[in-house]
Parts: sequence; C-alpha cells; structure tokens
Amino acid sequence: MNNLKLTNSLTRKKEIFKPINLNKISLYACGPTVYDYPHVGNARTLVVFDILFRVLKYIYGNNVKYVRNITDVDDKIIEASKKSKKSINEITKNITEIFHKDCESLNCLKPTFEPKATEHIDGMIEMTNSLIKKKFAYVNDGHVYFSISSFGNYGKLSNKKLDELKSGNRIEVSNLKKDPMDFVLWKPSNQDDPGWESPWGRGRPGWHLECSVMSEKYLGKVFDIHGGGLDLIFPHHENEIAQSCSNNSTDKFANYWMHNGFVTINKEKMSKSLGNIVTISDAVKKYSGQVVRLALLSAHYSQPLDWNDELLENQKNTLDKWYKLYEEQKNQDIMDSTDILLDDLNTPGFIAKIHELYNQANSGDLKKKSLFNSACRFLGLFNISKDEWQNLKKKQIKISEDYIESKIKERINAKKSGNYDLADKIRDELSEAGILIEDEKGKTKWKYK
Ligand code: AMP
Ligand code: ZN
Repeated sequence: MNNLKLTNSLTRKKEIFKPINLNKISLYACGPTVYDYPHVGNARTLVVFDILFRVLKYIYGNNVKYVRNITDVDDKIIEASKKSKKSINEITKNITEIFHKDCESLNCLKPTFEPKATEHIDGMIEMTNSLIKKKFAYVNDGHVYFSISSFGNYGKLSNKKLDELKSGNRIEVSNLKKDPMDFVLWKPSNQDDPGWESPWGRGRPGWHLECSVMSEKYLGKVFDIHGGGLDLIFPHHENEIAQSCSNNSTDKFANYWMHNGFVTINKEKMSKSLGNIVTISDAVKKYSGQVVRLALLSAHYSQPLDWNDELLENQKNTLDKWYKLYEEQKNQDIMDSTDILLDDLNTPGFIAKIHELYNQANSGDLKKKSLFNSACRFLGLFNISKDEWQNLKKKQIKISEDYIESKIKERINAKKSGNYDLADKIRDELSEAGILIEDEKGKTKWKYK
C-alpha cells in the first residue's frame, strides 16, 4: 500500500491521494509562456512537478499521464516581439528550444504530452462558443468575457471573498465588462498581431482558456492533480476552474491542487518585472544542472527558497562529496525510504536520509552504498558519470569569476598599451570558455554565453 499524501490547496489540508482511475493517473502543470529565458523561479515549478511525476510513476508505473503545456500565444510574447523587432515565431521557437535545453540540464523527465496553445485554437473557440450558449459568457465588441457572477464557487481555491480579490489584485479595467472581475476568453487582434478567424472576428484566446482546453483534451473533464507556482492561484487557476466547471457542469475540475512557493532573492520574489532574475541557463553554466536541481529541492516545495551563492556552494560541496560514492547504475533501482517523499514530497527529509545513507556507506556498509546511489537517482541526481562530473568541475575552475576578472584587467591593460593582438586573444580565449565580453561606455562587462 502506497500512502501518497499531498497538501491540497483547495482544502488547505494534507490528504491521502486517491486517483480517479488507477489506469490513468492524470497530472497537469502550467508550463512556460515562451517569451524570454526561463528563470530559476520557473525552474522550481519544473523540478517540483518532475519529482511528483517520478513519485507517481514509482507508485503507478506507466499509467501516469503528465501534461505540461507551452503558452505560445500571449500578450507578453507580442510585446517581446515589438520590443526586439523579432518575429513572434522566431521568439517562441527560440525560447521553446532554450526551455527544452534547460529541462534537460535539470534532468526533468519529458512530460507525456506537451501541447502548444497555438495548436489548440479550434478547441478554444469551441469552448468559448459553448460558454456563451450556456450563458456563462457574453460578447462585447469582439471580446468575449466570462461572467464571474454566473459561477457561485468563484474564489474557493484562493479562499477569498470577491471584495478581497477585487482590492488585492490587479484587475484589467475595461468598460466592455459587466463586472470588473469578469475575465477575457477571447479578444480581438490587430492586423499585425497573431490572430485566428472566429465567430467574434479575428482574434486570440485568453491565457486561462488555453489551460482549460488543453487539460480537458489530454486528461478529461475532471482529473487528478493540477499544479503550478503560488502566483497562479489567482486569477489563473481560479479562472480555469470557473470556465471548466461551468462548461462541463461539474463541481470539480481537478481533485487536488498543488502550488509551489517562490524562489526569492533577498526575500523578494524572483520575477522579470522586479529585474532580479537569474536565468536557468546562467545558473547551470555557473554551477551545473545537478547543483541547481539539488538547490531547488533543498527546501520543501511549499516554502519560499532564497537563492544565493551560499546555497549553491553548499549543494556543490554536497555533490562533490556524494560523487565519491558514485556507482554505475545496475539493473533495477532498489528503493528505500520512499515513504519520506510520499509524505507530501518531503525533499529536505529525503536529502537528510541520503546524507545518513552516505555516512553509513562511507563507513563500509556496502548494502547502504547501493541504496545511497538509488536514492540519489530517485531525486534525479547522478545523471552524469563521475568522470563527467569531474570534467565539469575542471571547466568551472578554469572559468572562475576571479580568473575572468583577472583576464579582463589584463585585456584592459593590453588595450591601454596598444597591444590589440593580445586583447583580442584574451577575448577569444574567454569566449572559448563560454564567457562573452562586452565593452560598454568605457567599461567591460562579461556574461555566460
Ligand atoms: P510564467 O512563465 O511566468 O507563466 O511562469 C511559469 C511557472 O513558473 C508558473 O508556474 C509560475 O507560477 C512559476 N514561477 C514564476 N516565478 C516564480 C518564482 N519566483 N518562484 C517560483 N515559481 C515561479
Ligand atoms: Zn494554466
């Protein structure tokens, strides 16, 4: 008997997980909006739901269906395209590739389905139509809005009264809405913006609608678990529930809702708007995917996690130590101690257990050595060999920040004394090591390529 317990945001309680259908365990996690490099905050959602996917697979085998969508039509993408003068296609394709590379570096398993919003527009038009027919939505000047007064359970997930939601959150103001809290299902597109023909004119879907349509297509009208970061509870998830439950006449959309806490920097949420992001690719280049993954799992998913060099240095030292007992993977993983993870994905508890196994193995207990290796692999660690780990470290030492700074100084001096050949040589050398140098307003900056 596997007693998986999860904290359900709907009830705010830890509950025993009971799937709807043992032959089809269904998990949906909101995926990225592909307009810019994903950051470490986004990585936390990726890694947390990857652990849940692994745990579910461990219990239910291949019957688990995990859907993580790609939002490739959104106002943020349109803005990014205008700003950068790059086409929408170029941006979404490029960022999706970067996102996939990041997932690989973090050793996240591929989801069962990864639907793109732009490939499901027909379904979105259909659902909008149906919501209008059932009088849950109304049309005004090319816009279609969901009328929240038609849905009695609005605010149940966030556990807030309508007045609180109204005052505490940014609500898009528009005199086309009957109620300021109504949200858009479909909106018109300008000539230059991406758009699809619809009964309400050329337009595009609202973000919330995308997830309702894609989850239903791959998982059904009611499914097991829906996840995402804490900031998605309102309005995104609240709106997904309103749309889907109204349209399908169900009182539930997903039975369990799970939300991960924020990655913070100096206790402030990491976000693009605050300008305090660390991209996944930069973090991986500096520390390696495994170090980043272990750091993301070092706190319980429901808690905030402050991102700083000390945290990462600690994980790096831990992995250095653990790699001393690395063993090639043999046949089937033997597992132990999974009950810790099954208790609401207690990753810090599980990591503490790995430390214990390491200590026992290190004092000569051979049985513990293989358990230790299996436990590391269960967390998605040890996906590169000992040799690869050591090579990675050598590379990192070569491009330590002190070294880079000293090379930049050398290059400035070379330029001052007119030795441009040497200056170019230093630039090329650093470039080969993955460091990009930029001269700006008399100053030299560097970044990881
Ligand atoms: P976005 O691309 O902004 O829609 O975000 C993708 C996912 O990352 C969502 O589940 C967000 O809730 C999550 N997310 C964004 N910022 C953070 C953060 N600082 N910490 C944790 N999760 C985050
Ligand atoms: Zn979503």
